[in-house]
Amino acid sequence: MTISGRLLVWAGLLLAVAVVPSVHAQTVAVVNARIVAGPEAEPISRGALLIRDGRIAAFGDADSVPVPQGMTVLDAGGGTLVAGFWNSHVHLIAPPLDHAAGHADDVLSAALTSAYLRWGFTTVFDIASAPGNAFGLRARIATGTVRGPAILTVDEPFFPKDGVPGYVPDTLGGWSLKQAEVATAAEASARARRQLAQGADGLKIFAGSMVGGEIGVLPMDLDIARAVAVAAHDARKPLFAHPSNTEGMEVAMAAGVDVFAHTTPNIAPWPEAVVRRLVEADIALVPTLALIEVEVRKEGAPAAALERMRENASGQLRAFSAAGGDVLFGTDAGYADVYDTRDELRLMHEAGLDWRQLLASLTSTPAARFGQRARKGRIAEGMDADLVILARDPALGVEAFADVRYTLIGGRVVYAAGPGE
Ligand SMILES: [Zn+2]
Repeated sequence: MTISGRLLVWAGLLLAVAVVPSVHAQTVAVVNARIVAGPEAEPISRGALLIRDGRIAAFGDADSVPVPQGMTVLDAGGGTLVAGFWNSHVHLIAPPLDHAAGHADDVLSAALTSAYLRWGFTTVFDIASAPGNAFGLRARIATGTVRGPAILTVDEPFFPKDGVPGYVPDTLGGWSLKQAEVATAAEASARARRQLAQGADGLKIFAGSMVGGEIGVLPMDLDIARAVAVAAHDARKPLFAHPSNTEGMEVAMAAGVDVFAHTTPNIAPWPEAVVRRLVEADIALVPTLALIEVEVRKEGAPAAALERMRENASGQLRAFSAAGGDVLFGTDAGYADVYDTRDELRLMHEAGLDWRQLLASLTSTPAARFGQRARKGRIAEGMDADLVILARDPALGVEAFADVRYTLIGGRVVYAAGPGE
């Protein structure tokens, strides 16, 4: 990030501090809402929803859900109420979140608000950051001192030996990425098990690492990738992989990974047989389509290259989704200095996903994939009151998923849009 970019982010954070939620109670009635309970649900055009003790107590047509006296009322203003969103690909590596221990609660709350809560994210999956950083930050969110989304994390990633990608610096906020390289399966297995014991919710390998130069993409040794996969699966946790190219995809598939963290824009759309193998192996995909433009611009590559990479990635997502693969919404926020979700929504829509499929990628699919189907990802009685109120109906334009009026976590309003937003 440039200095001016940093200043802009900080200015944004200061603005975000001003948006102090006015509703703190966990006993809340959301009224005047259009409720879309899940991706397949029939919308309730004039609905109400009651929250007690942080969970959804009742919801339905306003006439059938009377608001008990004394309940705090949140008027949705006719907006669309959906389950809280998941961003299944972020990194806590940009200041001040890269060094959470060194920052005050309000600074972290402001950063998490502008990066995630403001876009409706109630859960994020950090898929690589400095060792221990995410654990400390989420502990402060859990106790309520910092306002932010629920954080799942893979903690430190696994790079092949001499395989730190060329597009990241050698150190990030004092974390030397070189230390995340693994030379043997035994070394990888030991660290994987240590991280899981410390509380990691999954693991991440660079099955193909874009080191650049003459090598280009460096594949991870299959025995190392397998060792990390076995550790993850022994703990019943998902393994993410950065595939990068055909060879990286083959390593990832042979190792048994669960989630591709990106499409592979550098290679042509996946042949039908490859798509079938991915779906049969129950591998989920985070497309990160908007990231391509960010990267291409950074490298100053010609417009034709951007167009080709876009077509590759878009074709991959289109075929994967049509074949019934699990698509997870994710933006690489934190690595990419882009938090606005509109471009990603638009590009995924152009790749063939309708608003219901996008809602699934933001809610029910990640909740199910990451073991939280019983608590999150849908509006249903007894589920966590992680909710988003959108100003517009996403059926009329998918960018409405970025037009967030309120974000609630466990029944608390953690973000409320200001008058000009
Ligand atoms: Zn990433």
